[in-house]
Amino acid sequence: MHRTYAAWAAVAIFLFAPVAVADGYALHTVKPGESLGSIANSYQISVDALMAANDLRSAVIHPGDEIKVPYVEAMGGPAGTSPRIPPGFSWHTLQPGETLSTVAQAYGLSIDALVGANPTISSLDNLPVGVDLLIPPREGLIVTLESGQSLADVLSTYHVDPAEVARANHLRSPFDVQPGMMLFLPGVPPTQALARLKKVREAEHRFIWPIHGRITSPYGPRHLGMGTSPFHRGIDIAAPWGTPVHASRSGVVIFAGWSTEGYGNLVRIRHPDGDETWYGHFSTILVHVGEYVDQGEVIGREGSTGISTGPHVHFEVHVHGRAVDPMTVLH
Ligand SMILES: [Zn+2]
Repeated sequence: MHRTYAAWAAVAIFLFAPVAVADGYALHTVKPGESLGSIANSYQISVDALMAANDLRSAVIHPGDEIKVPYVEAMGGPAGTSPRIPPGFSWHTLQPGETLSTVAQAYGLSIDALVGANPTISSLDNLPVGVDLLIPPREGLIVTLESGQSLADVLSTYHVDPAEVARANHLRSPFDVQPGMMLFLPGVPPTQALARLKKVREAEHRFIWPIHGRITSPYGPRHLGMGTSPFHRGIDIAAPWGTPVHASRSGVVIFAGWSTEGYGNLVRIRHPDGDETWYGHFSTILVHVGEYVDQGEVIGREGSTGISTGPHVHFEVHVHGRAVDPMTVLH
């Protein structure tokens, strides 16, 4: 409450200086028995908004007091029209052959900037042709105000500078905002949206190739007499010595070091559902036990440590505690 009020005050101080204070208010004369709560309720606005509009430090009011009611918030703004897009934004309709990356590139934007402007998209990789994307003028986050949510709530949630938000959205007063309105928060990273979309991407491509190369030994029984096990529990992928190796899925590193079982320098990652991926024979390990790694993150460099005849990654996938053929989960 105090924090919210402080944020409102900050907005009010900055924004009200150049405009007439009476602009945009209805005046309500307090009758006996009325409280700030009952007045707020009758106009369908928040007590915070009333307190801010009247520069009140406590909720105590007296009969005969004149209370300013910010009518834009009270009336909920114009209905039935599509939401106004923030200044400097435009729409782009996804064309055949286009992806989020190509659109970002075409406008000279990062993927993060595009996600920030479109935080409710359902996928990074599988958007259908015809989807409308907002093109932002720069990096930042679009938030849509829910009813009951004030500008001050948004400012304090995202720790953004009221002046910058006012400028970016051409706001003349805090009461220019209304439920359903899109508000652009410059410089705020789309952290939540990216985390959600990365999970979606993982579901879409559960395991990715840790390294690209030539498969020199498949999963299954072997006849080469190499190694400690007659059954090859993974696939061997050969690539030039030192090639970076990527985490096949995100997860927590549960082993990173020398294996006494022939894997040489071994990394094991446990994924959120308990499945594991193992990567053997690294020349260099670039992660440590307990570290969280994203899918695709570099975890080491390919090598030929342990029982190995040449540079390759020995890659195992363990599902429900059992090593399965990686080729059945890689696409
Ligand atoms: Zn192997």
